[in-house]
Amino acid sequence: MAKFDEDRAKIAALRVRLLEWYAQHQRSLPWRQSSNSYAIWVSEIMLQQTRVAVVAVRYQEFMERFPTLISLALAPEQDVLALWSGLGYYRRARMLHKAAQFVASHLGGNLPARAEELRALPGIGAYTAAAVASIAHGEPVAVVDGNVERVLCRLAGWEAGSRKGGGATLRRKIEDLAGRLLDRARPGDFNQAIMELGATVCTPRNPQCAVCPLLADCKTRGEHKTPRRAPMISRAVGYALSVRTESEAGKRDGPGGREVLLEQRPAQQTVMPGMWELPTLVRSDVPEKDLRMTVRHAIMHVNYYVRVRTVFEDDIEGMTVEGGERRWVPLREAAGMALTGLARKVLTRAHLLPARADG
Ligand code: SF4
Repeated sequence: MAKFDEDRAKIAALRVRLLEWYAQHQRSLPWRQSSNSYAIWVSEIMLQQTRVAVVAVRYQEFMERFPTLISLALAPEQDVLALWSGLGYYRRARMLHKAAQFVASHLGGNLPARAEELRALPGIGAYTAAAVASIAHGEPVAVVDGNVERVLCRLAGWEAGSRKGGGATLRRKIEDLAGRLLDRARPGDFNQAIMELGATVCTPRNPQCAVCPLLADCKTRGEHKTPRRAPMISRAVGYALSVRTESEAGKRDGPGGREVLLEQRPAQQTVMPGMWELPTLVRSDVPEKDLRMTVRHAIMHVNYYVRVRTVFEDDIEGMTVEGGERRWVPLREAAGMALTGLARKVLTRAHLLPARADG
């Protein structure tokens, strides 16, 4: 078995094979057309915890609305959250916005070039800093995300560490190996190549070892041992869907239509503060005769089974739990608001909002 991590020539050959593979097989993704650090930063933040196919669509919408760091910094937070709606993990959007404002007001609008300086900004961790600095500015710093971690563990024949013990030691070993393998002449391409390999070939299940450019050096050649995942928990929630004909006041701003009752999550909430959702029912066990739909929505390790029923305007007070400020919102406005992903899902399934291109 090749000792790739001890042999310079083997490492050099591995880099060449990986970069050649990347040149031939990389997916065409919108952010890869740009070497602008702001554009790369936005894409990297969106890609954390969200599928590439979804990001590909939403990234373009975001960049059309906020083409520059300054345009993002000047936007109200609600506009930023509205464009983030459905991508989940809204803290990422708030931090991105905060960091843009900091760069605009303290750094003359220039995003720092070096990874170390980038890390000082809100919401930019080691991974994002390394990705932006290497891809946009060619700084030789290795990225280690979940994909890279998996590729390197398999390559070196390591088991993934459990969260309880040994995780920090393994993490250091992985970072060290990533740093030694990095092609210092082409760090941006190399980092993207190894992430792409993890995303498309060395996948968590059924890795495609037969077509892998690293097969000759790999000590695992298949799935490696990983700790057991925490089981999913199921939770029942009830939502009220209240729609009425638009009020006279609403009609003054446009053609008359329908409006839906939405509730804003209070600012002090730790999860999704300021986002708009449907009012919560006092009773989640909606009887079958009143059931409009059931929606499954996963957040972290919880599967929410949301039962939705129609509630008439006069019954709202008695049937729902008062959680935050409520507003009757014309449907033509609702689509552009900072809706939670779940609220958007329910309204789309009820055909009250148009379906988005990313589904
Ligand atoms: S040979 Fe298989 S396990 Fe090893 S890096 Fe390639 S795809 Fe992953």
